[in-house]
Amino acid sequence: MTRKTTTRTTAARATVYGYPRQGCNRELKKAVEGYWHGRVSAEALHQTASDLRRENWRQLAEAGIDEVPSGDFSLYDHVLDTSVMVGAIPPRHRAAVAANPLDGYFAMARGTQDTAPLEMTKWFDTNYHYLVPELGPDTVFTADAGKQVAEFKEATALGHTARPVLLGPVSYLLLAKPVLGASPLFEPVNLINRLLPVYAEILADLRAAGAQWVQLDEPALVQDQPEEILRTAARAYLDLGRLTDRPKILAASYFDRLGAALPVLAQAPIEGLALDFTGPAAANLDALAAIGGLPGKRLVAGVVNGRNVWINDLAASLSTLGTLLGLADRVDVAASCSLLHVPLDAEAERGLDPQIARWLAFARQKTAELAVLARGLSQGTDTIAAELAANRADLASRAGSAVTGDPEVRTRAASVTDAHIHRSQPYAERTAAQRARLALPPLPTTTIGSFPQTDELRAARAGLRAGRIDDAAYRERIEAEIREVVGFQERVGLDVLVHGEAERNDMVQYFAEQLVGYLATRHGWVQSYGTRYVRPPILAGDISRPAPMTVRWTSYAQSLTAKPVKGMLTGPVTMLAWSFVRDDQPLADTARQVALALRDEVADLEAAGTAVIQVDEPALRETLPLRAADRPAYLAWATEAFRLATAGVRPETQIHTHMCYAEFGDILAAIDDLDADVISLEAARSHLRVAGELAAAEYPREVGPGVYDIHSPRIPSASEVAELLRTGLRAVPADRLWVNPDCGLKTRGWPEVRSALAHLVAAARGVREEVTPRPSGVSLATAEER
Ligand code: GLN
Ligand code: ZN
Repeated sequence: MTRKTTTRTTAARATVYGYPRQGCNRELKKAVEGYWHGRVSAEALHQTASDLRRENWRQLAEAGIDEVPSGDFSLYDHVLDTSVMVGAIPPRHRAAVAANPLDGYFAMARGTQDTAPLEMTKWFDTNYHYLVPELGPDTVFTADAGKQVAEFKEATALGHTARPVLLGPVSYLLLAKPVLGASPLFEPVNLINRLLPVYAEILADLRAAGAQWVQLDEPALVQDQPEEILRTAARAYLDLGRLTDRPKILAASYFDRLGAALPVLAQAPIEGLALDFTGPAAANLDALAAIGGLPGKRLVAGVVNGRNVWINDLAASLSTLGTLLGLADRVDVAASCSLLHVPLDAEAERGLDPQIARWLAFARQKTAELAVLARGLSQGTDTIAAELAANRADLASRAGSAVTGDPEVRTRAASVTDAHIHRSQPYAERTAAQRARLALPPLPTTTIGSFPQTDELRAARAGLRAGRIDDAAYRERIEAEIREVVGFQERVGLDVLVHGEAERNDMVQYFAEQLVGYLATRHGWVQSYGTRYVRPPILAGDISRPAPMTVRWTSYAQSLTAKPVKGMLTGPVTMLAWSFVRDDQPLADTARQVALALRDEVADLEAAGTAVIQVDEPALRETLPLRAADRPAYLAWATEAFRLATAGVRPETQIHTHMCYAEFGDILAAIDDLDADVISLEAARSHLRVAGELAAAEYPREVGPGVYDIHSPRIPSASEVAELLRTGLRAVPADRLWVNPDCGLKTRGWPEVRSALAHLVAAARGVREEVTPRPSGVSLATAEER
């Protein structure tokens, strides 16, 4: 219910913590990649970046955002920017950075032929990836406020009230990893006392540049943190608070509730707190009341969900804001987190049913909602009566629509039983049937699914969409690619082949486009990492599969070779994680609907003769709730959905799964619970650490820890791969160890892929020789060896 709010002397402001960086036509991607390929000069790149920042600030101001963020922009990643800001350049990149800061910056991000890049991992439970700072006992921090100061001044010169946004020191250290070889006692967070003076210098520089406020993001504090870390945070914000030469500090948290960290930040001598009040973070409201609010402080209230694509329930937000008014000195209105995680503009989606389009709010629409809420809060709800009425009508139209509910889907989902989620034989028994059927060598080689997506393939897809080529021509184009990919895999000597996923624009979108209940966007790009953007589809209604989605391509590939071809599907959890989800039913219900659609696809693949089916779940770990208390329930529905999709197959059909980009150590039990026969995991950058973790957990099944880092253009040598395999063998016996890259090869070029896979196969063969007992007198070199 709407409630009347009193007019306040200090008007509530609308603000955001960050905005999509890419521009409405992904200008940033084009400029950065152009720079890498020598087509765009450094000057032109900086000009594009500056134009994009100007346009973003203009959009924000025009929407009614009173205080804009600065410094949230990045050429690649804001955590990497923070490493540069505090001088945490790994020794191997120092020369490159000294010679040319821009090239050195990209070398840290992407690696070069001689230097490995920084490790990359998920930004909390989002689909954004950051570059992990590498810190050691010898790390010396030095302040470089250059980027922050320049961008703040840029915004100010354009007439905006800007608030520099920095990753806070505690979260920065908690997001870092110890350098290789550091003592096990070393933890990056131990460096806090060395880091704080650097932050102090940067805050002073920002103050000197005229900043009134600075935002320090501490999202790591919404995770369960031990007492010690909370004490570290308390000390850090006491020190920062006591600085005299600094802007006012707004400590920002998002993605979940602050929990025990709330009183810590509330008691710090800083001027403001930004809290998330959406989803599970809504618990912040009662917690805030329980500690008596934030007397004397500014509260920035994240009431508009910054991660979903749905219109806000304005009346509900106003009610939350109304309650908060009594709990702080001043209440401002914000999105729950940076708008980096949503597409730019729902208006661009002209292809959508106009009724459905009214339910959507991307970054631009969310900023408009914030402005309306701030106005309602400052001037009374009467002043936004028209907006409230329109919002009520849109919410009602969504709730009552036939798109959102399909009785048949609901009946099937309700009739799932325990038998649906159990394979007919336990792993130990069915593995024998699979070995007999597949007859693979020890250390079998395979890939994760995709082969390079060439410009030609993209052009064919665009041609089909635009009607320049017909279905038959497109099909012939894809089949030609499959012939190439299968031929190459046979020549290079891989054991389990794939069709190459040439037909897939994206591993989620491809399926979403064929499932009823999903919406696709035309321009809904969101940054995944660096210059890689994805267009997450939208789970808008109940999900069903009108027809097989992959069978014809897999069957065609299998018709070309005697080796097994893996069928490739995207798992239910990943389908959810990389889509925008419904906010009108539990995630578990949506997952079950998607799983049932995939179960039908698995059955069709098996019926077509597919012996190996891989169901990718790269996102299983990333959707793990940030608070441990919420995890068991999540893992229960997530593993159930995977099993519902896969457990219907015969014992001799081998189910693979694949995961990447994440720390798997804390979900090993859940990984086992998936009951997949084989799992491939990203592991190359961490030197196969996960293999040891699985061994320690006595993981009983087959594992392929990645031995080729596909996020880097660097080609590993055969001896390097062999070394990784030997490391793997120390943890996993040869009859359970698979040899594969970290992930799909779609972002790599053919020349790299050809050499890298040749090295991978050579390494596997070499190490096979070391582990396979040979009858005496047989020569080492086999015909295969050439
Ligand atoms: N099968 C997918 C591919 O190879 C897996 C991608 C992923 O895990 N991100 O592209
Ligand atoms: Zn992957």
